[in-house]
Amino acid sequence: MTQPEDPRESAAREWKRVVLKLSGEALADAGGNNVSAAVVDSLASEIADVWTSLKVDIAVVVGGGNIWRGMAGSIGGMDRAQSDHMGMLATVINALALQDALERREVPTRVMTAIGMAQIAEPYIRRRAVRHLEKGRVVIFAAGTGNPFFTTDTAAALRAAEVDADVVLKGTHSGVNGVYTADPQTDPDAQLLSEVTFLEVLSRELAVMDSAAIAVCKDNATPIVVFDLMTQGNFRRVVEGEALGTLVR
Ligand code: UDP
Repeated sequence: MTQPEDPRESAAREWKRVVLKLSGEALADAGGNNVSAAVVDSLASEIADVWTSLKVDIAVVVGGGNIWRGMAGSIGGMDRAQSDHMGMLATVINALALQDALERREVPTRVMTAIGMAQIAEPYIRRRAVRHLEKGRVVIFAAGTGNPFFTTDTAAALRAAEVDADVVLKGTHSGVNGVYTADPQTDPDAQLLSEVTFLEVLSRELAVMDSAAIAVCKDNATPIVVFDLMTQGNFRRVVEGEALGTLVR
C-alpha cells in the first residue's frame, strides 16, 4: 500500500498523534465576545505552528461552554437533554470558527460532527477520521459525543481511544497551568502536581476532567497532559515532550 501523501517534514517528537481538548471559553475574550476572531486566530497559529513543524497528527475536540452549557439550561428549568443538544450545537459553531482560522493559515482541516449536519461538516466516521489524520489534516471533532449528559472532555477521551491517539492534551485557559492539590485560585498552599495517577484523580476528586472522561482514559491507558494552552508556544512545547503542567496516567 502506498503511503498517504503528507507534504511535511518528519521531526523528533514525543507524541505521534494527539487530541487537543479546547474549552469553548478558550475562544472568548475579556471584552464579552463569545467567539473572538483574534483569540481564535491566535489558537489557530499555535496549532498551525505544530502542524507545520512537527508532523504530528492533530485532532481537536472543541467545547461549547462559551456559548451554552446544558447544565445551565437545566438549572433554569429546561429539559436537560434538550439543553445538552443546544450545548452540542454550540461546539459546532466553535469548530467552524477554528476551521476557518486554520484554513486561513493554510492548514488543511476537516470538521466532523457527532450529530449529522452534512451541509456544513462531515459526519463523524472513525475510519474516515483516521484517514484524514494519516493524510496530515487537522481533524476537529464537534458536537461532543453526540449524546446528552456527557461533556466534550469525555468526547476527547473517547475520540482519542477511537483514533488511537497517544495522548489527550487538555489545554486550560484560566491561568491554571496544571493539576493542583487544591484550587490555586483560592488556596495559597495549593501545589502543582507534575504527575498523578488516574486513580488519584478520581479518589481525590482533582479537577482535571470529569470522571467519565478520566474513566475512559484510564480504561484505554490514554495519558492526559493538563497544561496552560494560552501561553504562546506551550502547545508546541508539550508536543515536543517538555514536561509542562501535569501528566495523568
Ligand atoms: N454536550 C453534550 N454531550 C457531549 C458533549 C457536550 O451534551 O458529548 C453539551 C453539554 O450541554 C455541555 C455543552 O455541550 O455543557 C458544551 O460542552 P462542554 O461543557 O464540554 O464545553 P467546554 O466546557 O469544554 O467549553
